[in-house]
Amino acid sequence: MNSHTSPVRKIPVAILGATGAVGQTFVRLLDGHPWFDVTAVAASERSAGKSYRDAAHWLSGKMPERIAQLTVTPCDPAVVDAPVVFSALDSDVAGEVEAAFARAGRMVLSNARNYRMDADVPLLIPEVNPDHLELIPVQRAARNWSGAIVTNSNCSTMVVALALAPLHRAFGVRQLFVTTLQALSGAGYPGVPSLDILGNIIPFIGGGEEEKIETEPLKILGTFENGTITPAQMTVSAQVNRVAVEHGHTVCMSVKLAARATPEDAIAALESWKGAVASLGLPSAPASPVVVTREQDRPQPRRDVNSGGGMTVVVGRVRSDPLLDLRLVAMGHNTVRGAAGASILNAELLVARGLVAR
Ligand code: NAP
Repeated sequence: MNSHTSPVRKIPVAILGATGAVGQTFVRLLDGHPWFDVTAVAASERSAGKSYRDAAHWLSGKMPERIAQLTVTPCDPAVVDAPVVFSALDSDVAGEVEAAFARAGRMVLSNARNYRMDADVPLLIPEVNPDHLELIPVQRAARNWSGAIVTNSNCSTMVVALALAPLHRAFGVRQLFVTTLQALSGAGYPGVPSLDILGNIIPFIGGGEEEKIETEPLKILGTFENGTITPAQMTVSAQVNRVAVEHGHTVCMSVKLAARATPEDAIAALESWKGAVASLGLPSAPASPVVVTREQDRPQPRRDVNSGGGMTVVVGRVRSDPLLDLRLVAMGHNTVRGAAGASILNAELLVARGLVAR
């Protein structure tokens, strides 16, 4: 982690939905963070009043002792006073709760789908579209609140968008056909029953997963002008599958481009792309948001999921495609790059841009 740009005093942050799969990833990634200090963990009424140790069914590694001792609170801005709020809430409740925090003047970094496609809400990937933060004053004026909601994408969209961004900037992506192989941790905890998924593949993921992958990349790769985002002009066709993998969503993509590009051209574009925030020293930014592997049987979730601390998307098998122009395989960590890590990186950009007071 870079710490040379760290604020002198750490910024208090809260985690809403702190007991779930993504909430726990926030707890893990924020432990020892150079800029942020977790001062509140909040969840449902089922968990409120219990110690975090008792409320969370801890999934990975050692629970940080300081957080274990915190008492879980309800998701209420009258109780949670941190200025920065990470939301890992179920979409059933995220809508109202996140709005309440934004109305109360808080900066809300949301993982839920509720506000992602709203015209005045940034769907942010710092390396790709940091200029979309210009929507914050638009949002505040439209909704008459002093806080704001900034969202990160669906976890598969994140892998798709990071692999596409360098290709879109270099050659213009016009069509994308994508098939996903999505890990079990993407379904939260306890998620998919073991007898449904052991030795099996389920070609359906609820909550409009295919629609999210078909719409969110267009907004992310779109251009901000005159207070609004014009979506990228491309058509996406998505098919999704749940597979018996713990962490790491794999996406197999065939891509049609506006300009001709050989696989070597595509690899050069992917390898030279460092993203828009490489010089800012954001603590959670990986050295390379995208890396290319030339090994013929990679990327693989088990071997590659922790690349760049889980923040790097690994692209491989870049080949020509007999139907469209190019095909490739990309893989990224769904609860880190696809959820909590993405939100934390978004918050770091807000701090670097002066949108959160140090
Ligand atoms: P999860 O494991 O089911 O956790 C859900 C969290 O929401 C828990 O902390 C739960 O608290 C809380 N919650 C549920 N009902 C509530 C209520 N009525 N009031 C307050 N809190 C409530 O789900 P997850 O996988 O972490 O996903 C969280 C969010 O992130 C979802 O919107 C999901 O779509 C999104 N997301 C997930 C991933 C992923 O890879 N898993 C990736 C990107 C985005 P209790 O423990 O008290 O019930």
